[in-house]
Amino acid sequence: MSKYDVIVIGSGPGGYVAAIRCAQLGMKTAIIEKYATLGGTCLNVGCIPSKALLDSSEYVHEAKEKFAAHGIKLSGLQVDLKRMVERKDEVVAQTVKGVEFLMKKNKIDVYHGYGSFVAPKEIQVAKEDGTSETLHTDKVIIATGSKPIVPSAFNYDKKRVITSTEALNITKIPKRMVIVGGGVIGLELGSVFARLGTEIEVVEYMDRILPTMDLDCSKELTRVLKKLGFKFHLKHAVQSIKATSRSVTVNVQARDEEEAFDIKADYCLVAIGRRPYTDKLGLDKAGVQIDEKGRIVVDEHLQTNVEGIYAIGDVIRGPMLAHKAEEEGIFVAETMAGQKPHIDYNLIPSVVYTWPEVASVGKTELQLKEAGIPYKGGKFPFKASGRARASMDTDGMVKVLAHKDTDEILGVHMVGPRAADMIAEAVALMEFRASAEDAGRICHAHPTFTEALKEAALAATANRAIHI
Ligand code: FAD
Ligand code: NAD
Repeated sequence: MSKYDVIVIGSGPGGYVAAIRCAQLGMKTAIIEKYATLGGTCLNVGCIPSKALLDSSEYVHEAKEKFAAHGIKLSGLQVDLKRMVERKDEVVAQTVKGVEFLMKKNKIDVYHGYGSFVAPKEIQVAKEDGTSETLHTDKVIIATGSKPIVPSAFNYDKKRVITSTEALNITKIPKRMVIVGGGVIGLELGSVFARLGTEIEVVEYMDRILPTMDLDCSKELTRVLKKLGFKFHLKHAVQSIKATSRSVTVNVQARDEEEAFDIKADYCLVAIGRRPYTDKLGLDKAGVQIDEKGRIVVDEHLQTNVEGIYAIGDVIRGPMLAHKAEEEGIFVAETMAGQKPHIDYNLIPSVVYTWPEVASVGKTELQLKEAGIPYKGGKFPFKASGRARASMDTDGMVKVLAHKDTDEILGVHMVGPRAADMIAEAVALMEFRASAEDAGRICHAHPTFTEALKEAALAATANRAIHI
């Protein structure tokens, strides 16, 4: 019978990163994954494949909409979506192989099969071939991630009523797609298909898309996505979905009125959030508690109510983000090794990979108002950036929010080209508790998109922006 210092259940960005850090710190480590490939949602059906399709479809969009202005003449442009999906699969295959390599390099034992608790320190691995194995361990890290939420009235058939997992494998460009949920998945995957020519209709329950992000970012992205052809039904909810083998009929109801209507489309993509995944994990046998939303309850050390059992990533509270799961994996490994790691949850950036991208860190204006924190703000539009004009990426802006009295940066929100990469500077500034003036006095290379952050910081510092 195999005995480990630590067993990690789930090989997503939380689990595999935790396993590597445990191994680096000298622990005898095993990881259990129910699928044939490692990497979890993120590498197989999440972050990586969606970004691969976002990149491919953005090339199509640029070719259609921008090349002529650059003086590049193109005729007979054709999209081979099947090839696009194949390339996405190649990217995924390379990435998951990379994780396999890292497991070997760090001498981590990999078990493919369904992991479940028999007792707090005993885990059974049920394998595909019907056999099973029992492993013993001192400590466990639960990193079992999440699954899409799909109400039963939506009749999820994985063919016409789909989630992101199936949407990533569509090989014929749909004529029309209804998307339930104007959140991250809806807008990213909606962008992929809108760029390829699909009519996209988004049904969102709240009064704006990306309801938890900065209001100006949400407004700006709405404007840009409408230009791309998105149609939004805000303050509307989907009641039911009926599918045939070729189409779907989506019944939509206004949130605050009596109005109801049907939309017929080729597909309905359900993207209304994800739920923690702990099915058949045997949490009862270990005595591990979950909360009313099905999330595993953890303390400030990410330890569950059972000593030696920890949980990280999408299966616990907090944003469902790969980099949050990774940070927590490292945090738990170092905590087990007796170190005193720290995670500042306020400084976990969020990114939406539309084009332009949306990125944000720290507090929104709404949060600052609610908390009664006095603040000042500075904004800089990309249309005033020379770099953005050169690349025809003038949609969007950067907003810096700073404490009214101390000038400390409290939040940075942006919609713009390469915002996903630019937000890292804002995170670093805030980690070191920089003031808006500090940010405005840092020399930024010219011409770069990052100058917009410096200018927004200068605008927050007594209206000192130079180029507006
Ligand atoms: P997961 O990645 O879900 O991994 C959990 C693993 O555990 C899975 O492989 C599962 O098979 C395995 N497992 C579960 N139960 C068992 C069991 N009992 N036994 C064995 N194995 C088990 N986040 C970002 O930060 N950036 C993005 O750009 C981004 N894009 C996304 C795009 C899409 C379409 C989706 C769906 C998600 C995206 N996310 C993104 C979110 C991100 O994928 C998750 O936050 C992240 O994967 C969570 O990591 P995790 O390790 O907690 O769980
Ligand atoms: P989400 O929480 O981002 O958005 C769901 C949206 O659906 C919300 O705007 C919500 O108001 C709306 N909604 C909920 N119920 C509804 C209903 N019945 N009718 C109409 N609208 C409804 O969830 P998601 O887009 O499904 O993404 C799931 C998770 O995956 C997110 O937590 C996100 O963090 C993660 N993810 C991250 C990235 C990224 O970091 N770029 C990309 C994709 C997914």
